[in-house]
Amino acid sequence: MSQGNASRSTGSASSRGEVAAVNAVNVHKFFGRTHVLKGIDMEVAPSEVVCLIGPSGSGKTTFLRCINQLEEIDGGRIWVNGDLMGYYEKNGRLHVLDDAAKARQRRPIGMVFQRFNLFPHMTAVQNIIEAPTQVLGVSKADATSEAMNLLDQVGLADRAENYPSQLSGGQQQRVAIARALAMHPKLMLFDEPTSALDPELVGDVLKVMRDLAEEGMTMVVVTHEMAFARDVADRVVFMDAGKVVEEGTPDQVINHPSQERTQQFLSRMV
Ligand code: ADP
Repeated sequence: MSQGNASRSTGSASSRGEVAAVNAVNVHKFFGRTHVLKGIDMEVAPSEVVCLIGPSGSGKTTFLRCINQLEEIDGGRIWVNGDLMGYYEKNGRLHVLDDAAKARQRRPIGMVFQRFNLFPHMTAVQNIIEAPTQVLGVSKADATSEAMNLLDQVGLADRAENYPSQLSGGQQQRVAIARALAMHPKLMLFDEPTSALDPELVGDVLKVMRDLAEEGMTMVVVTHEMAFARDVADRVVFMDAGKVVEEGTPDQVINHPSQERTQQFLSRMV
């Protein structure tokens, strides 16, 4: 385990009297008749790094998208930093939030997707300042100055004026991370951020994520990078067929899995 990990507290947030960064209770999701999430319970503590692993189609991406309200859930509840996602309470009853309120709930949550989704007609720095200036009302000068710091943080200080088409996939992905960080997220969701990259570009992106973890960012990461999960995660959650099958420290889940399905999955990974 890395040093950053060792200094992290583990155990459930509620057991330490903290508000959980994510608290998902009995989350269900259907696509048509397909029952994709079958009662997911998951708690993520502040500053915790949780890696979600499991076979393709097990529901990992869908669960991540549910946390961020990119998908509506069909059952259960998700709280992010104590905020019940998608609903408000009035007179003891729950009501659905309107789109603007949902967008406000989504604001402290950064997401990085598998495919780099930068605005193609904007330079790296323009991509990064777009949301802070448009959504948060930060001045262009202040947003630009912060964007330059963020580009430096992801190792791309000299690429500020480049358009996405002039950047490698790995560089684009690092700009995408900087863009998410520009909104000062309390939680970062990563959906297989390196799986669309050429192998030689994966390391730089994982390093940026590793640095973020060491700085104490709360992260939920869907990944097939077992070495990353082993080194960086505080907790690994193995999902299969819409359920959490097993979870624990990386050593427990990756090195000594107790469930047969986890063992089978991991034996196919190497
Ligand atoms: P994973 O991330 O573990 O590979 P996903 O969450 O992407 O799994 O997918 C879980 C299941 O949900 C799969 O059977 C997939 O085909 C299905 N699915 C995902 N998104 C949609 C969608 N927008 N419409 C219909 N089915 C979907």
